[in-house]
Amino acid sequence: MADSRPARQRALALALEAAGLEGLLVQSLPNIRYLTGFTGSAGLLLVRPPDLVLITDFRYAAQAPRETGDTARVEIDPSSIWDRLKRVLGEYPAGRLGFEAHVATVKERGRLDAVAGQQWTGLLEPVEALRLVKDAGEVAAIRAAVAVAQAALGEVLPTVRAGQREIDVAAALERALRLQGSEWHPFQTIVASGPRSALPHARTSERTIRPGDWLLLDFGAQVDGYCADLTRTVLVGGVADARQRAVYEAVREAQRRALDNLRAGMPGREADQLAREVIVRRGFGEAFGHSLGHGLGLEVHEAPRLSPTAEAVIPAGAVVTVEPGIYLPGWGGVRLEDDVYLGADGPVVLSDNRVELLELP
Ligand code: ZN
Ligand code: ZN
Repeated sequence: MADSRPARQRALALALEAAGLEGLLVQSLPNIRYLTGFTGSAGLLLVRPPDLVLITDFRYAAQAPRETGDTARVEIDPSSIWDRLKRVLGEYPAGRLGFEAHVATVKERGRLDAVAGQQWTGLLEPVEALRLVKDAGEVAAIRAAVAVAQAALGEVLPTVRAGQREIDVAAALERALRLQGSEWHPFQTIVASGPRSALPHARTSERTIRPGDWLLLDFGAQVDGYCADLTRTVLVGGVADARQRAVYEAVREAQRRALDNLRAGMPGREADQLAREVIVRRGFGEAFGHSLGHGLGLEVHEAPRLSPTAEAVIPAGAVVTVEPGIYLPGWGGVRLEDDVYLGADGPVVLSDNRVELLELP
């Protein structure tokens, strides 16, 4: 696969030029990774086209040059990366520079203002705007992460039984994810059973799963930094009753409609409506309190948003989740989540979308 970093850096340089800026300070680690390949946990990246200077600390003295190659100059500072930034800035004529207004803290803002001669302008997500559109390598990495997540689920689901605790299932799933090749868990694995499945962001607990319970599993995998995000809801130790079936079918139909009709070029709110209309029609509108989905990439939640208020158009090349849900407090909830690449020629569902109601023995 060709190295995409030079093209990303050129695109950013053009955007900065269009904004009348001579450079940008990048603090967001996923953005630094996107532009240079550096995966460390601390660093500052000064983009001063055509130069990129990555400033990091002693821990990454060997790793940083290896990862960045010739896409950035690496400066290692044993004491303070902010002091080193000041010195590096001194190598260039003073100018108008951008900073990531959505990342910099008030304290860091003060540090920037203390650098004599520079004029700082806050920008909202200038690198994220580039990350919206995925290249072939990025889509391949997400696809690989999805495959890992599915393989792990496939291993664990047949072993799930009533009598186990949520935490037992989560531990088995996380073990399988790591052994299948996930670098790390991109977010806290959610395993929620029975009435707890009505909590859209439940914290996995020690509750014992009972026969006839819903079991909601929301979990991810990460490959080359790129995330997968899947949710399946299964019935444990029984056969679904009429209400369980009705709720499940409503969520499944809502997801089906969104997957079939979702297109690049659509505003996020229109995508959200595709699923929401089905759930409202089935009488559960009040019980679908979150948005339909979110972008997926180096971060598990990134642009674009598929929500009732999202005016922004979903660009061709975005990867998004489609995850409608119905949550009935005290009773339980169902959510189904798959990952979709929105190509110029139409959507490609990256995950298996195996969402027929599964009733475990
Ligand atoms: Zn999820
Ligand atoms: Zn999600």
